[in-house]
Amino acid sequence: MIKLDSFSLFFVANWKLNGNFKFIDQFISNISLPRDKSKCVVICPTSIHLDYMSKNINDFYLGAQNVSQHKDGAYTGEISVNSLSDLNVNFCIVGHSERRQIFYEKNEEINLKSVNLIKNNLVPIICVGETLQEKEKGITNEILEEQLKNSIPISSNFQNTIIAYEPVWAIGTGLTPTIEEIDVTHQFIREHNVKFNKFKILYGGSVKADNVKLITSLLNVDGALIGGASLKTDEFTKIIQD
Ligand code: PEP
Repeated sequence: MIKLDSFSLFFVANWKLNGNFKFIDQFISNISLPRDKSKCVVICPTSIHLDYMSKNINDFYLGAQNVSQHKDGAYTGEISVNSLSDLNVNFCIVGHSERRQIFYEKNEEINLKSVNLIKNNLVPIICVGETLQEKEKGITNEILEEQLKNSIPISSNFQNTIIAYEPVWAIGTGLTPTIEEIDVTHQFIREHNVKFNKFKILYGGSVKADNVKLITSLLNVDGALIGGASLKTDEFTKIIQD
């Protein structure tokens, strides 16, 4: 398992269902990685492109966007933890809100996937976050509590798991919580369970070159999960270099 505590900041690029070989070639030749080795840059392409990327990268880490909760067997179309290990994948996003909402993924499933990843030395990046409706009802903390309690396995610790706070309403919208709101929510997550004390907690939702510095300067923010802006090489370079 990769040594999470050897890094001070994480930048995780979630390419979602985007990218092809040409895009990857251009990305790899244009990206400029930080000299500061305490910054960990993780690229999560589609699972189809993991193999190609694993053969063409040296300086950043590879992450998957999802994994099956099943080890093997009759589960047509699924991708196992073992397949990810074969491709030198170190990280896997689990429980992204798009999977929770579009594919009806439940906390229990997210928990099982995370258990399997940890057993196989892959780091789950477990996503939690409230919808706009939940925020407006003032129940953000209850929602986060439920997601944290049920989706983070007992076997998780600061050396094998990352948490990502992603308010659903901030994903792909250009909207972000205020800096004070991010600060308060990350502190809430950190203090929610004593074991989260040393966890890496990332923020995700419309992170860009012009807001990343302020967000990642917060005491309880250990990096960012980046969607749209990670597909623009110049913008992503600025994000990870700053
Ligand atoms: C994401 O998909 O996890 C995400 C944070 O997307 P965006 O940066 O585009 O809001």
